[in-house]
Amino acid sequence: MKNFVYEFEGSLYINLTNKCPNDCEFCVRKIRNGIGEDDLRLTREPSFDDIKEMLSLFPLKKYEEIVFCGYGEPLCALSVLSQVAPYIKRLGFKTRLNTNGLGGLWNKRNDIPQLISKYIDSVSISLNASYPELYQEICRSRYGEDAFYAMIEFVKGCVENGIDTTLTVVDFIGEEEIESCRLLAEKLGAKYRVRETIRE
Ligand code: SF4
Repeated sequence: MKNFVYEFEGSLYINLTNKCPNDCEFCVRKIRNGIGEDDLRLTREPSFDDIKEMLSLFPLKKYEEIVFCGYGEPLCALSVLSQVAPYIKRLGFKTRLNTNGLGGLWNKRNDIPQLISKYIDSVSISLNASYPELYQEICRSRYGEDAFYAMIEFVKGCVENGIDTTLTVVDFIGEEEIESCRLLAEKLGAKYRVRETIRE
């Protein structure tokens, strides 16, 4: 299964799962099966050994960091992530996690920032909105508006545990909301990035 690990724009990505508790309006999964040439729909989720085997096929020295960001939420595969990320660190690479920040709700535990701070150097968290009603309108989480509060707690935990934390929004939310999110990111002590909406 080649789509467990894939290269995109010079970085190496690990695709652990297609599961996700959200159904975001802007999710690329609605319009494409993958990124670039790679079909990222999984027929099964990879094990630690699958990922190790796939990583051995890539010229790892050329990458500055290895990113957990698949066609789904990586923290929905926390147990495999907790094996793969320390392995990557032992190989000498930096690690980044791209997440919706809802791993606490999914895994029913509130210590995930502390846990991952041992092996994740930076985290990019989808903020998407500055208040719960809009978050739910955009992200249509199975957890309802609780998702927004859980995501904010996750952000605080990451910052407190020394993970280099960036919050992101997608540019279709409008200038006023982009600014409100920027202010919220600042208040939370996180970096901030506006992403371009991917369209068909
Ligand atoms: S959180 Fe990410 S993977 Fe999940 S629906 Fe939203 S954009 Fe898609």
